[in-house]
Amino acid sequence: MGSTVRVFHCPKCNRVIRTTVETCRYCSTPIDARQAEAAADLEDRLSSVDFDLSRTGREPPLFEIVLAPIAFVRTWRALGKMPHDHPEVSALRRKAWTHLWLWILAMASFIYAIVQRFRHF
Ligand SMILES: [Zn+2]
Repeated sequence: MGSTVRVFHCPKCNRVIRTTVETCRYCSTPIDARQAEAAADLEDRLSSVDFDLSRTGREPPLFEIVLAPIAFVRTWRALGKMPHDHPEVSALRRKAWTHLWLWILAMASFIYAIVQRFRHF
């Protein structure tokens, strides 16, 4: 596991670099090995949260009704453990909210359609 090449975004120029370098190859910013590993860990967790969230909306509608709120709660809990001022964390939080709002709208129109249908009986 220690031999795996890991990458992360340079804290200064935001380009993808290896965690093992001493300075960024693009902007020459000194890279602290521990900070680089921590940043790579965070990026890994962020991409797994993003993957989890991006999956919602691709399932059949009946699954979606159950899965969308679960995905939202999972995303929310995962993001709660990450630095709040991180731009990627904020972006994912916005994305989670968008998913939740779309779900609420879909549920509202679904319930509305059912109510409309039963009014005629
Ligand atoms: Zn850089």
